[in-house]
Amino acid sequence: MSRPSNFPPPFSTADYVAEPTDPADERIEVGVLIVGAGPAGLACAIRLGQLLEEHPDVAERLGDVPVAVLEKGKQPGSHLLSGAVVDPRALRRLFGNRLRMEDLPSFGLVPGESVYVLTRRAALPIPPPPPMRNHGNWIFSLSQLGRFLAERAEEGGAMILPETAAQRLLVSHGRVVGVRTGDKGRGREGGELGNFEAGSDLVAKVTVLAEGTQGHLTGVALDRFGLRGDDPQVWELGVKEVWKVAKPLDRVIHTMGWPLRPGKRYREFGGSFIYPMGEDMVTIGLVVGLDYRDASLSVHDLLQELKTHPKIRRILAGGERLQWGAKTIPSGGFHALPRRLHAPGLLLCGDGAGMVNIPRLKGVHYAIESGRLAAEAAFRALQRGETPASALSSYDDAVRDSFIWRDLHEVRNMRQVFGHGFFVGGALASAMTASKGRVELGKLPAEPDADQPLLVTDRDASYPAPDGQLTFDKLSSVFASGNKTRDDQPNHIRIERRVPREVAELWAHMCPAQVYEVGAEEGDGTVMVDVAPSNCVQCGAITAKGGRLTPPEGGSGPEYTLT
Ligand SMILES: Cc1cc2nc3c(=O)[nH]c(=O)nc-3n(C[C@H](O)[C@H](O)[C@H](O)COP(=O)(O)OP(=O)(O)OC[C@H]3O[C@@H](n4cnc5c(N)ncnc54)[C@H](O)[C@@H]3O)c2cc1C
Ligand code: SF4
Repeated sequence: MSRPSNFPPPFSTADYVAEPTDPADERIEVGVLIVGAGPAGLACAIRLGQLLEEHPDVAERLGDVPVAVLEKGKQPGSHLLSGAVVDPRALRRLFGNRLRMEDLPSFGLVPGESVYVLTRRAALPIPPPPPMRNHGNWIFSLSQLGRFLAERAEEGGAMILPETAAQRLLVSHGRVVGVRTGDKGRGREGGELGNFEAGSDLVAKVTVLAEGTQGHLTGVALDRFGLRGDDPQVWELGVKEVWKVAKPLDRVIHTMGWPLRPGKRYREFGGSFIYPMGEDMVTIGLVVGLDYRDASLSVHDLLQELKTHPKIRRILAGGERLQWGAKTIPSGGFHALPRRLHAPGLLLCGDGAGMVNIPRLKGVHYAIESGRLAAEAAFRALQRGETPASALSSYDDAVRDSFIWRDLHEVRNMRQVFGHGFFVGGALASAMTASKGRVELGKLPAEPDADQPLLVTDRDASYPAPDGQLTFDKLSSVFASGNKTRDDQPNHIRIERRVPREVAELWAHMCPAQVYEVGAEEGDGTVMVDVAPSNCVQCGAITAKGGRLTPPEGGSGPEYTLT
Protein backbone atom coordinates (compact mmCIF):
# COMPACT_ATOMS: atom_id res chain seq x y z
CA MET A 1 0.00 0.00 0.00
CA SER A 2 1.47 3.36 -1.03
CA ARG A 3 1.76 6.32 1.28
CA PRO A 4 2.08 9.80 -0.27
CA SER A 5 4.86 10.60 2.22
CA ASN A 6 7.06 8.00 0.48
CA PHE A 7 7.24 10.36 -2.52
CA PRO A 8 8.42 13.67 -1.04
CA PRO A 9 8.44 16.82 -3.17
CA PRO A 10 11.61 18.48 -4.45
CA PHE A 11 11.57 21.18 -1.75
CA SER A 12 14.17 22.26 0.75
CA THR A 13 13.58 24.71 3.58
CA ALA A 14 17.14 25.95 3.13
CA ASP A 15 16.23 27.43 -0.28
CA TYR A 16 13.77 29.77 1.44
CA VAL A 17 16.03 31.16 4.17
CA ALA A 18 18.52 33.81 3.09
CA GLU A 19 20.56 36.79 4.20
CA PRO A 20 19.36 40.11 2.73
CA THR A 21 20.88 40.53 -0.74
CA ASP A 22 19.77 44.02 -1.81
CA PRO A 23 22.40 46.70 -1.11
CA ALA A 24 21.75 48.28 2.33
CA ASP A 25 20.48 51.57 0.86
CA GLU A 26 17.97 49.77 -1.41
CA ARG A 27 16.30 47.70 1.30
CA ILE A 28 12.80 48.76 2.35
CA GLU A 29 12.90 49.38 6.10
CA VAL A 30 9.77 49.09 8.23
CA GLY A 31 9.18 48.89 11.98
CA VAL A 32 6.95 45.82 12.27
CA LEU A 33 6.41 43.66 9.18
CA ILE A 34 3.26 41.54 9.17
CA VAL A 35 2.93 38.78 6.57
CA GLY A 36 -0.73 38.09 5.74
CA ALA A 37 -3.80 40.34 5.75
CA GLY A 38 -6.12 37.83 7.40
CA PRO A 39 -7.84 38.31 10.76
CA ALA A 40 -4.58 37.60 12.66
CA GLY A 41 -2.36 39.96 10.66
CA LEU A 42 -4.93 42.75 10.47
CA ALA A 43 -5.75 42.54 14.20
CA CYS A 44 -2.01 42.85 14.84
CA ALA A 45 -1.78 45.93 12.59
CA ILE A 46 -4.87 47.52 14.18
CA ARG A 47 -3.59 47.01 17.73
CA LEU A 48 -0.15 48.37 16.81
CA GLY A 49 -1.86 51.43 15.32
CA GLN A 50 -3.73 52.00 18.60
CA LEU A 51 -0.55 51.64 20.68
CA LEU A 52 1.56 53.84 18.41
CA GLU A 53 -1.11 56.53 18.46
CA GLU A 54 -0.85 56.56 22.26
CA HIS A 55 2.98 56.58 22.10
CA PRO A 56 4.07 58.82 19.21
CA ASP A 57 7.68 58.72 20.47
CA VAL A 58 7.84 54.99 19.70
CA ALA A 59 6.16 55.52 16.31
CA GLU A 60 8.78 58.15 15.52
CA ARG A 61 11.60 55.71 16.29
CA LEU A 62 10.12 53.15 13.89
CA GLY A 63 10.71 55.38 10.86
CA ASP A 64 8.57 56.33 7.86
CA VAL A 65 6.68 53.02 7.81
CA PRO A 66 6.09 51.86 11.39
CA VAL A 67 3.78 48.99 10.34
CA ALA A 68 3.50 47.21 6.97
CA VAL A 69 1.25 44.28 5.99
CA LEU A 70 2.05 42.06 2.99
CA GLU A 71 -0.80 40.26 1.25
CA LYS A 72 -0.39 37.89 -1.70
CA GLY A 73 -4.02 38.29 -2.87
CA LYS A 74 -5.14 41.09 -5.21
CA GLN A 75 -6.45 42.91 -2.16
CA PRO A 76 -7.11 42.12 1.51
CA GLY A 77 -9.94 39.59 1.61
CA SER A 78 -9.20 38.10 -1.84
CA HIS A 79 -7.82 34.91 -0.26
CA LEU A 80 -9.99 34.81 2.87
CA LEU A 81 -12.50 31.98 3.15
CA SER A 82 -14.22 30.72 6.27
CA GLY A 83 -17.64 29.65 7.59
CA ALA A 84 -17.86 32.15 9.16
CA VAL A 85 -19.71 32.02 12.45
CA VAL A 86 -17.51 34.08 14.73
CA ASP A 87 -17.19 34.13 18.51
CA PRO A 88 -17.16 37.90 19.21
CA ARG A 89 -14.82 37.84 22.26
CA ALA A 90 -11.66 38.81 20.40
CA LEU A 91 -13.26 41.47 18.19
CA ARG A 92 -14.71 43.11 21.32
CA ARG A 93 -11.29 43.17 23.01
CA LEU A 94 -9.61 44.49 19.87
CA PHE A 95 -11.94 47.42 19.38
CA GLY A 96 -12.96 48.06 23.02
CA ASN A 97 -15.30 51.05 22.99
CA ARG A 98 -14.02 52.26 19.61
CA LEU A 99 -16.49 50.05 17.66
CA ARG A 100 -19.52 47.93 18.52
CA MET A 101 -20.26 44.53 16.95
CA GLU A 102 -23.19 46.24 15.16
CA ASP A 103 -20.67 48.51 13.38
CA LEU A 104 -18.94 45.56 11.70
CA PRO A 105 -20.09 44.22 8.29
CA SER A 106 -21.89 41.09 9.55
CA PHE A 107 -25.07 39.19 8.78
CA GLY A 108 -26.13 39.52 12.41
CA LEU A 109 -26.32 37.20 15.37
CA VAL A 110 -26.87 33.46 14.86
CA PRO A 111 -30.69 33.30 14.83
CA GLY A 112 -31.00 29.65 15.93
CA GLU A 113 -29.42 26.32 15.15
CA SER A 114 -30.02 22.70 14.20
CA VAL A 115 -27.80 19.65 13.94
CA TYR A 116 -28.71 16.63 11.81
CA VAL A 117 -27.25 13.20 11.31
CA LEU A 118 -27.79 12.45 7.63
CA THR A 119 -28.37 9.22 5.81
CA ARG A 120 -28.78 9.19 2.02
CA ARG A 121 -32.46 10.15 2.21
CA ALA A 122 -33.22 11.07 5.83
CA ALA A 123 -32.12 13.75 8.28
CA LEU A 124 -32.30 12.91 11.98
CA PRO A 125 -32.30 16.02 14.18
CA ILE A 126 -30.17 15.76 17.34
CA PRO A 127 -29.69 18.29 20.14
CA PRO A 128 -26.65 20.43 19.24
CA PRO A 129 -23.63 18.91 21.07
CA PRO A 130 -21.94 21.57 23.29
CA PRO A 131 -19.17 22.46 20.79
CA MET A 132 -21.72 23.13 18.07
CA ARG A 133 -23.76 25.61 20.13
CA ASN A 134 -23.51 29.04 18.58
CA HIS A 135 -25.77 31.19 20.70
CA GLY A 136 -24.24 34.69 20.90
CA ASN A 137 -21.98 34.23 17.87
CA TRP A 138 -22.12 36.39 14.73
CA ILE A 139 -22.27 35.45 11.06
CA PHE A 140 -19.73 37.03 8.69
CA SER A 141 -18.22 36.70 5.27
CA LEU A 142 -14.53 36.57 6.20
CA SER A 143 -13.46 38.15 2.91
CA GLN A 144 -15.76 41.10 3.64
CA LEU A 145 -14.59 41.32 7.27
CA GLY A 146 -10.99 41.26 6.00
CA ARG A 147 -11.58 44.26 3.73
CA PHE A 148 -13.19 46.14 6.63
CA LEU A 149 -10.33 45.32 9.04
CA ALA A 150 -7.80 46.37 6.39
CA GLU A 151 -9.45 49.80 6.17
CA ARG A 152 -9.28 50.13 9.97
CA ALA A 153 -5.59 49.10 9.90
CA GLU A 154 -4.83 51.72 7.23
CA GLU A 155 -6.68 54.39 9.23
CA GLY A 156 -4.38 53.48 12.13
CA GLY A 157 -1.33 54.14 9.95
CA ALA A 158 -0.43 50.68 8.59
CA MET A 159 0.80 50.41 5.01
CA ILE A 160 -0.86 47.48 3.22
CA LEU A 161 1.00 46.02 0.26
CA PRO A 162 -1.34 43.75 -1.74
CA GLU A 163 -0.28 41.49 -4.65
CA THR A 164 2.96 40.87 -2.74
CA ALA A 165 3.99 37.34 -1.75
CA ALA A 166 6.60 36.84 0.96
CA GLN A 167 8.90 34.19 -0.58
CA ARG A 168 11.99 33.96 1.62
CA LEU A 169 12.67 34.48 5.29
CA LEU A 170 15.59 36.86 5.80
CA VAL A 171 17.78 35.63 8.65
CA SER A 172 20.98 37.32 9.72
CA HIS A 173 23.17 36.13 12.62
CA GLY A 174 20.40 33.75 13.77
CA ARG A 175 17.75 36.49 13.88
CA VAL A 176 14.82 37.05 11.53
CA VAL A 177 15.26 40.48 9.95
CA GLY A 178 12.41 40.49 7.44
CA VAL A 179 11.35 38.78 4.22
CA ARG A 180 12.15 38.84 0.53
CA THR A 181 9.16 39.26 -1.73
CA GLY A 182 8.64 37.21 -4.87
CA ASP A 183 9.64 38.29 -8.37
CA LYS A 184 6.91 39.24 -10.83
CA GLY A 185 6.83 38.82 -14.59
CA ARG A 186 8.72 35.56 -15.04
CA GLY A 187 7.79 33.10 -17.79
CA ARG A 188 6.97 29.42 -17.38
CA GLU A 189 10.63 28.36 -17.50
CA GLY A 190 11.68 31.18 -15.16
CA GLY A 191 12.98 33.64 -17.80
CA GLU A 192 12.31 37.38 -17.41
CA LEU A 193 9.35 38.72 -19.43
CA GLY A 194 9.00 42.35 -20.62
CA ASN A 195 7.18 43.35 -17.42
CA PHE A 196 9.69 41.67 -15.06
CA GLU A 197 10.02 43.19 -11.59
CA ALA A 198 12.51 41.71 -9.13
CA GLY A 199 11.35 41.10 -5.54
CA SER A 200 12.69 43.26 -2.71
CA ASP A 201 14.18 42.82 0.74
CA LEU A 202 11.83 44.21 3.38
CA VAL A 203 13.72 44.51 6.64
CA ALA A 204 12.00 44.99 9.99
CA LYS A 205 12.73 45.11 13.71
CA VAL A 206 10.00 42.51 14.29
CA THR A 207 8.44 40.17 11.69
CA VAL A 208 5.00 38.69 12.42
CA LEU A 209 4.00 35.66 10.35
CA ALA A 210 0.19 35.62 10.08
CA GLU A 211 0.01 33.57 6.88
CA GLY A 212 -2.90 31.35 7.89
CA THR A 213 -3.19 27.68 7.07
CA GLN A 214 -0.17 26.02 5.43
CA GLY A 215 1.83 29.24 5.76
CA HIS A 216 4.82 28.96 3.45
CA LEU A 217 7.31 30.94 5.56
CA THR A 218 5.74 29.69 8.79
CA GLY A 219 6.68 26.14 7.75
CA VAL A 220 10.17 27.36 6.87
CA ALA A 221 10.51 29.13 10.26
CA LEU A 222 9.25 26.09 12.22
CA ASP A 223 12.01 24.00 10.63
CA ARG A 224 14.74 26.65 10.75
CA PHE A 225 14.24 27.38 14.46
CA GLY A 226 13.21 23.85 15.57
CA LEU A 227 9.76 25.01 16.71
CA ARG A 228 7.56 22.10 15.58
CA GLY A 229 5.23 20.80 18.30
CA ASP A 230 4.97 17.36 19.91
CA ASP A 231 2.48 16.13 17.32
CA PRO A 232 2.72 16.62 13.57
CA GLN A 233 0.22 19.18 12.28
CA VAL A 234 -2.75 17.70 10.37
CA TRP A 235 -5.41 19.46 8.29
CA GLU A 236 -8.98 19.32 7.05
CA LEU A 237 -10.08 20.48 3.63
CA GLY A 238 -13.14 22.73 3.44
CA VAL A 239 -14.95 23.37 0.16
CA LYS A 240 -17.77 25.89 0.20
CA GLU A 241 -20.25 27.69 -2.00
CA VAL A 242 -22.28 30.86 -1.54
CA TRP A 243 -25.79 30.74 -2.97
CA LYS A 244 -28.46 33.31 -3.68
CA VAL A 245 -31.66 31.64 -2.45
CA ALA A 246 -35.37 32.18 -2.90
CA LYS A 247 -36.30 31.69 0.77
CA PRO A 248 -34.31 32.99 3.76
CA LEU A 249 -32.72 30.38 6.05
CA ASP A 250 -33.70 31.00 9.67
CA ARG A 251 -30.85 29.16 11.50
CA VAL A 252 -27.37 27.75 11.19
CA ILE A 253 -27.28 24.05 10.33
CA HIS A 254 -24.53 21.49 10.86
CA THR A 255 -24.73 17.95 9.54
CA MET A 256 -22.78 14.79 10.28
CA GLY A 257 -22.78 11.39 8.61
CA TRP A 258 -23.62 10.95 4.92
CA PRO A 259 -21.97 11.47 2.42
CA LEU A 260 -19.00 10.41 4.59
CA ARG A 261 -18.64 6.74 5.45
CA PRO A 262 -18.45 5.70 9.11
CA GLY A 263 -16.05 2.72 8.85
CA LYS A 264 -12.73 2.96 10.68
CA ARG A 265 -10.81 1.78 7.62
CA TYR A 266 -11.86 4.88 5.64
CA ARG A 267 -10.93 7.42 8.36
CA GLU A 268 -13.55 9.87 7.06
CA PHE A 269 -14.05 12.59 9.65
CA GLY A 270 -15.99 15.77 8.98
CA GLY A 271 -19.33 17.40 8.45
CA SER A 272 -21.14 20.21 6.72
CA PHE A 273 -22.14 23.73 7.67
CA ILE A 274 -25.02 25.72 6.19
CA TYR A 275 -25.26 29.32 7.37
CA PRO A 276 -27.67 32.11 6.45
CA MET A 277 -26.15 35.29 5.01
CA GLY A 278 -28.97 37.77 5.41
CA GLU A 279 -32.34 37.41 3.69
CA ASP A 280 -31.26 36.10 0.33
CA MET A 281 -27.95 34.25 0.62
CA VAL A 282 -26.77 31.01 2.17
CA THR A 283 -23.32 29.53 2.50
CA ILE A 284 -22.89 25.75 2.35
CA GLY A 285 -19.64 23.91 2.92
CA LEU A 286 -18.20 20.50 3.63
CA VAL A 287 -15.10 19.94 5.76
CA VAL A 288 -13.23 16.59 5.68
CA GLY A 289 -10.08 15.52 7.57
CA LEU A 290 -7.14 15.00 5.22
CA ASP A 291 -6.13 11.85 7.07
CA TYR A 292 -8.67 9.97 4.93
CA ARG A 293 -7.34 6.96 3.03
CA ASP A 294 -9.47 6.52 -0.07
CA ALA A 295 -7.62 7.74 -3.16
CA SER A 296 -10.94 8.35 -4.94
CA LEU A 297 -12.31 10.73 -2.30
CA SER A 298 -12.99 14.24 -3.57
CA VAL A 299 -14.34 16.82 -1.11
CA HIS A 300 -15.46 18.94 -4.07
CA ASP A 301 -17.60 16.09 -5.39
CA LEU A 302 -18.86 15.09 -1.94
CA LEU A 303 -20.16 18.64 -1.53
CA GLN A 304 -21.96 18.29 -4.87
CA GLU A 305 -23.43 15.01 -3.60
CA LEU A 306 -24.47 16.58 -0.29
CA LYS A 307 -26.53 19.18 -2.16
CA THR A 308 -28.63 16.40 -3.71
CA HIS A 309 -29.93 15.38 -0.25
CA PRO A 310 -33.68 16.17 -0.12
CA LYS A 311 -33.27 18.35 3.00
CA ILE A 312 -30.53 20.46 1.44
CA ARG A 313 -31.93 20.55 -2.06
CA ARG A 314 -35.00 22.25 -0.55
CA ILE A 315 -32.87 25.02 1.00
CA LEU A 316 -31.20 25.76 -2.36
CA ALA A 317 -34.33 25.28 -4.54
CA GLY A 318 -34.81 28.10 -7.05
CA GLY A 319 -31.43 29.56 -6.09
CA GLU A 320 -28.20 30.27 -7.91
CA ARG A 321 -24.56 29.61 -7.02
CA LEU A 322 -22.68 32.91 -6.66
CA GLN A 323 -19.23 31.87 -5.51
CA TRP A 324 -17.10 28.84 -4.74
CA GLY A 325 -13.86 28.35 -2.84
CA ALA A 326 -11.66 25.92 -0.92
CA LYS A 327 -9.16 26.11 1.90
CA THR A 328 -7.54 23.86 4.49
CA ILE A 329 -7.90 24.23 8.26
CA PRO A 330 -5.20 23.06 10.68
CA SER A 331 -6.74 20.48 12.97
CA GLY A 332 -3.92 19.03 15.07
CA GLY A 333 -5.02 21.21 18.01
CA PHE A 334 -3.18 21.71 21.28
CA HIS A 335 -0.52 18.99 20.91
CA ALA A 336 0.47 20.22 17.44
CA LEU A 337 1.01 23.85 18.53
CA PRO A 338 4.62 24.97 18.00
CA ARG A 339 6.95 24.52 21.00
CA ARG A 340 7.38 28.29 21.03
CA LEU A 341 5.47 30.97 19.19
CA HIS A 342 8.51 33.18 18.83
CA ALA A 343 12.07 33.08 17.58
CA PRO A 344 14.58 35.94 17.53
CA GLY A 345 12.87 38.80 15.67
CA LEU A 346 9.81 36.64 14.87
CA LEU A 347 6.26 35.99 16.11
CA LEU A 348 3.74 33.40 14.85
CA CYS A 349 -0.05 33.89 14.98
CA GLY A 350 -3.39 32.40 13.97
CA ASP A 351 -3.87 29.38 11.72
CA GLY A 352 -0.19 29.36 10.78
CA ALA A 353 0.52 28.34 14.36
CA GLY A 354 -2.47 25.93 14.33
CA MET A 355 -4.79 27.90 16.65
CA VAL A 356 -8.07 26.25 15.66
CA ASN A 357 -10.73 24.57 17.78
CA ILE A 358 -11.86 21.85 15.38
CA PRO A 359 -14.86 20.47 17.33
CA ARG A 360 -16.24 24.03 17.31
CA LEU A 361 -14.97 24.79 13.77
CA LYS A 362 -13.65 28.10 15.08
CA GLY A 363 -10.39 29.88 14.47
CA VAL A 364 -11.22 33.49 13.61
CA HIS A 365 -11.35 34.68 17.22
CA TYR A 366 -8.09 32.89 18.09
CA ALA A 367 -6.45 34.50 15.05
CA ILE A 368 -7.65 37.95 16.13
CA GLU A 369 -6.68 37.45 19.76
CA SER A 370 -3.22 36.11 18.88
CA GLY A 371 -2.68 39.02 16.48
CA ARG A 372 -3.59 41.47 19.23
CA LEU A 373 -1.28 39.77 21.74
CA ALA A 374 1.55 39.68 19.16
CA ALA A 375 1.14 43.43 18.62
CA GLU A 376 1.38 44.08 22.35
CA ALA A 377 4.50 41.91 22.71
CA ALA A 378 6.18 43.53 19.71
CA PHE A 379 5.29 46.98 21.03
CA ARG A 380 6.68 46.21 24.51
CA ALA A 381 9.98 45.06 23.03
CA LEU A 382 10.21 48.06 20.70
CA GLN A 383 9.28 50.53 23.44
CA ARG A 384 12.18 49.32 25.55
CA GLY A 385 14.41 49.27 22.48
CA GLU A 386 15.13 45.60 23.16
CA THR A 387 16.68 43.33 20.55
CA PRO A 388 17.90 40.26 22.50
CA ALA A 389 16.60 36.85 21.48
CA SER A 390 14.26 36.58 24.47
CA ALA A 391 12.61 40.00 23.98
CA LEU A 392 9.52 38.52 22.35
CA SER A 393 8.97 35.67 24.80
CA SER A 394 6.27 37.67 26.60
CA TYR A 395 4.05 36.77 23.62
CA ASP A 396 4.23 33.08 24.53
CA ASP A 397 3.35 33.93 28.14
CA ALA A 398 0.39 36.04 27.02
CA VAL A 399 -0.96 33.28 24.74
CA ARG A 400 -0.58 30.71 27.55
CA ASP A 401 -2.61 32.99 29.82
CA SER A 402 -5.33 33.57 27.23
CA PHE A 403 -8.58 31.85 26.30
CA ILE A 404 -6.78 30.49 23.21
CA TRP A 405 -4.68 28.17 25.38
CA ARG A 406 -7.51 27.24 27.76
CA ASP A 407 -9.95 26.40 24.97
CA LEU A 408 -7.47 24.36 22.93
CA HIS A 409 -6.31 22.46 26.01
CA GLU A 410 -9.90 21.51 26.81
CA VAL A 411 -10.38 19.81 23.41
CA ARG A 412 -6.81 18.55 23.09
CA ASN A 413 -7.58 14.94 22.03
CA MET A 414 -10.86 15.58 20.30
CA ARG A 415 -9.63 15.36 16.71
CA GLN A 416 -7.46 12.29 17.32
CA VAL A 417 -10.32 10.21 18.71
CA PHE A 418 -12.04 10.28 15.32
CA GLY A 419 -9.29 8.01 14.01
CA HIS A 420 -11.37 5.33 15.83
CA GLY A 421 -14.18 5.80 13.30
CA PHE A 422 -17.11 8.20 13.42
CA PHE A 423 -19.34 6.50 16.00
CA VAL A 424 -16.67 5.52 18.54
CA GLY A 425 -14.96 8.87 17.99
CA GLY A 426 -18.25 10.74 18.43
CA ALA A 427 -18.96 8.97 21.73
CA LEU A 428 -15.46 9.67 23.07
CA ALA A 429 -15.62 13.28 21.93
CA SER A 430 -18.97 13.77 23.73
CA ALA A 431 -17.51 12.36 26.95
CA MET A 432 -14.53 14.68 26.67
CA THR A 433 -16.71 17.71 26.02
CA ALA A 434 -19.12 16.96 28.85
CA SER A 435 -16.16 16.73 31.25
CA LYS A 436 -14.45 19.86 29.82
CA GLY A 437 -11.47 17.76 28.82
CA ARG A 438 -11.10 16.03 32.19
CA VAL A 439 -11.95 12.59 30.73
CA GLU A 440 -8.32 11.63 30.15
CA LEU A 441 -7.50 9.22 27.37
CA GLY A 442 -3.80 9.88 27.70
CA LYS A 443 -2.08 11.54 24.82
CA LEU A 444 -3.34 9.87 21.66
CA PRO A 445 -0.90 9.15 18.83
CA ALA A 446 -1.07 11.37 15.76
CA GLU A 447 0.34 10.71 12.31
CA PRO A 448 0.93 13.10 9.42
CA ASP A 449 -1.91 13.07 6.87
CA ALA A 450 0.53 11.98 4.16
CA ASP A 451 1.52 8.87 6.18
CA GLN A 452 -1.90 7.23 5.84
CA PRO A 453 -1.67 4.16 3.57
CA LEU A 454 -3.98 4.53 0.58
CA LEU A 455 -7.05 2.48 -0.32
CA VAL A 456 -8.55 2.40 -3.78
CA THR A 457 -12.34 2.07 -4.07
CA ASP A 458 -14.94 3.02 -6.64
CA ARG A 459 -16.32 5.86 -4.47
CA ASP A 460 -15.98 8.26 -7.40
CA ALA A 461 -18.45 6.20 -9.48
CA SER A 462 -21.34 7.52 -7.36
CA TYR A 463 -20.51 11.25 -7.45
CA PRO A 464 -23.40 13.07 -9.16
CA ALA A 465 -22.93 14.21 -12.74
CA PRO A 466 -22.66 18.01 -12.90
CA ASP A 467 -25.90 19.60 -14.14
CA GLY A 468 -24.66 23.22 -14.04
CA GLN A 469 -27.59 24.20 -11.77
CA LEU A 470 -27.27 22.32 -8.49
CA THR A 471 -24.09 20.36 -9.11
CA PHE A 472 -20.93 21.57 -10.81
CA ASP A 473 -17.65 20.29 -12.16
CA LYS A 474 -14.31 21.45 -10.80
CA LEU A 475 -13.42 23.79 -13.65
CA SER A 476 -16.65 25.75 -13.38
CA SER A 477 -16.02 25.93 -9.63
CA VAL A 478 -12.54 27.38 -10.24
CA PHE A 479 -14.19 29.97 -12.49
CA ALA A 480 -16.65 30.77 -9.66
CA SER A 481 -13.69 31.49 -7.35
CA GLY A 482 -12.65 34.39 -9.61
CA ASN A 483 -9.20 32.76 -10.03
CA LYS A 484 -6.79 35.03 -11.88
CA THR A 485 -3.56 33.03 -11.98
CA ARG A 486 -1.53 33.83 -15.10
CA ASP A 487 -1.21 30.71 -17.31
CA ASP A 488 2.42 31.26 -18.21
CA GLN A 489 4.00 31.87 -14.80
CA PRO A 490 6.45 29.40 -13.24
CA ASN A 491 4.91 26.36 -11.57
CA HIS A 492 4.53 27.08 -7.85
CA ILE A 493 3.55 23.51 -6.88
CA ARG A 494 6.25 21.10 -5.83
CA ILE A 495 5.41 17.40 -6.21
CA GLU A 496 7.24 14.25 -7.21
CA ARG A 497 5.93 13.90 -10.77
CA ARG A 498 6.51 10.15 -11.12
CA VAL A 499 4.55 8.15 -8.56
CA PRO A 500 2.46 4.97 -8.19
CA ARG A 501 -0.96 5.29 -9.82
CA GLU A 502 -2.86 5.43 -6.49
CA VAL A 503 -0.82 8.44 -5.31
CA ALA A 504 -1.50 10.24 -8.61
CA GLU A 505 -5.20 9.39 -8.29
CA LEU A 506 -5.28 10.62 -4.71
CA TRP A 507 -3.94 14.03 -5.81
CA ALA A 508 -6.22 14.23 -8.85
CA HIS A 509 -9.34 13.48 -6.77
CA MET A 510 -8.29 15.51 -3.74
CA CYS A 511 -7.46 18.76 -5.52
CA PRO A 512 -10.73 20.72 -5.68
CA ALA A 513 -9.40 22.82 -8.56
CA GLN A 514 -8.38 20.10 -11.06
CA VAL A 515 -4.69 20.90 -11.02
CA TYR A 516 -3.49 17.27 -11.31
CA GLU A 517 -4.19 14.70 -13.99
CA VAL A 518 -3.02 11.12 -14.02
CA GLY A 519 -0.69 10.98 -17.03
CA ALA A 520 1.02 8.25 -19.01
CA GLU A 521 2.11 4.88 -17.56
CA GLU A 522 5.88 4.65 -17.33
CA GLY A 523 6.05 0.84 -17.76
CA ASP A 524 7.27 0.20 -14.20
CA GLY A 525 3.92 0.58 -12.42
CA THR A 526 4.36 4.34 -11.98
CA VAL A 527 2.62 7.17 -13.85
CA MET A 528 3.54 10.77 -14.62
CA VAL A 529 1.38 13.43 -12.96
CA ASP A 530 0.40 16.32 -15.28
CA VAL A 531 0.06 19.65 -13.51
CA ALA A 532 -2.06 22.72 -14.47
CA PRO A 533 -0.85 25.19 -11.80
CA SER A 534 -2.95 28.11 -13.05
CA ASN A 535 -6.12 26.38 -11.78
CA CYS A 536 -4.77 26.39 -8.22
CA VAL A 537 -6.83 28.26 -5.60
CA GLN A 538 -4.07 27.85 -2.98
CA CYS A 539 -6.15 25.72 -0.61
CA GLY A 540 -3.01 24.03 0.76
CA ALA A 541 -4.26 20.42 0.63
CA ILE A 542 -1.31 19.26 -1.45
CA THR A 543 1.11 20.21 1.35
CA ALA A 544 -0.83 17.97 3.75
CA LYS A 545 -0.87 15.04 1.32
CA GLY A 546 2.72 14.77 0.20
CA GLY A 547 3.53 17.83 -1.95
CA ARG A 548 4.32 21.45 -1.21
CA LEU A 549 2.45 24.62 -2.15
CA THR A 550 4.66 27.70 -2.48
CA PRO A 551 3.21 31.17 -3.10
CA PRO A 552 2.80 31.97 -6.80
CA GLU A 553 3.38 35.47 -8.18
CA GLY A 554 1.63 38.08 -6.00
CA GLY A 555 -1.90 38.89 -7.18
CA SER A 556 -2.53 35.32 -8.44
CA GLY A 557 -5.25 33.03 -7.15
CA PRO A 558 -8.88 33.48 -6.24
CA GLU A 559 -10.74 36.75 -5.93
CA TYR A 560 -13.11 35.91 -3.09
CA THR A 561 -15.67 38.56 -2.18
CA LEU A 562 -18.39 36.61 -0.32
CA THR A 563 -16.63 33.60 1.23
C1 LIG B 1 -14.22 26.02 5.28
C2 LIG B 1 -13.83 26.73 6.55
C3 LIG B 1 -14.79 27.06 7.47
C4 LIG B 1 -14.43 27.71 8.65
N1 LIG B 1 -15.42 28.10 9.50
C5 LIG B 1 -15.10 28.87 10.57
C6 LIG B 1 -16.13 29.44 11.35
O1 LIG B 1 -17.32 29.29 11.08
N2 LIG B 1 -15.76 30.19 12.43
C7 LIG B 1 -14.44 30.41 12.74
O2 LIG B 1 -14.15 31.10 13.74
N3 LIG B 1 -13.44 29.87 12.00
C8 LIG B 1 -13.74 29.13 10.91
N4 LIG B 1 -12.74 28.65 10.12
C9 LIG B 1 -11.32 28.90 10.48
C10 LIG B 1 -10.93 30.35 10.21
O3 LIG B 1 -11.31 30.74 8.93
C11 LIG B 1 -9.42 30.53 10.39
O4 LIG B 1 -9.08 30.06 11.68
C12 LIG B 1 -8.98 31.98 10.24
O5 LIG B 1 -9.32 32.47 8.96
C13 LIG B 1 -7.49 32.11 10.49
O6 LIG B 1 -7.08 33.43 10.32
P1 LIG B 1 -5.57 33.78 9.92
O7 LIG B 1 -5.48 35.27 9.87
O8 LIG B 1 -4.66 33.04 10.79
O9 LIG B 1 -5.36 33.17 8.45
P2 LIG B 1 -6.12 33.44 7.09
O10 LIG B 1 -7.52 33.78 7.31
O11 LIG B 1 -5.83 32.26 6.23
O12 LIG B 1 -5.36 34.70 6.45
C14 LIG B 1 -4.02 34.62 6.06
C15 LIG B 1 -3.73 35.67 4.98
O13 LIG B 1 -2.32 35.67 4.72
C16 LIG B 1 -2.08 35.72 3.33
N5 LIG B 1 -0.77 35.08 3.09
C17 LIG B 1 -0.43 33.81 3.40
N6 LIG B 1 0.85 33.57 3.09
C18 LIG B 1 1.34 34.71 2.57
C19 LIG B 1 2.62 35.08 2.06
N7 LIG B 1 3.66 34.23 2.07
N8 LIG B 1 2.78 36.34 1.57
C20 LIG B 1 1.74 37.22 1.59
N9 LIG B 1 0.51 36.93 2.05
C21 LIG B 1 0.32 35.69 2.56
C22 LIG B 1 -3.25 34.94 2.75
O14 LIG B 1 -3.45 35.27 1.39
C23 LIG B 1 -4.41 35.38 3.65
O15 LIG B 1 -5.02 36.56 3.16
C24 LIG B 1 -13.06 28.01 8.92
C25 LIG B 1 -12.08 27.70 7.98
C26 LIG B 1 -12.45 27.07 6.78
C27 LIG B 1 -11.40 26.79 5.75
S1 SF4 C 1 -2.96 22.41 -6.31
FE1 SF4 C 1 -3.72 24.22 -5.27
S2 SF4 C 1 -5.95 23.97 -5.25
FE2 SF4 C 1 -5.06 21.94 -5.70
S3 SF4 C 1 -4.83 20.89 -3.75
FE3 SF4 C 1 -2.91 21.93 -4.15
S4 SF4 C 1 -3.10 23.89 -3.14
FE4 SF4 C 1 -5.20 23.09 -3.33
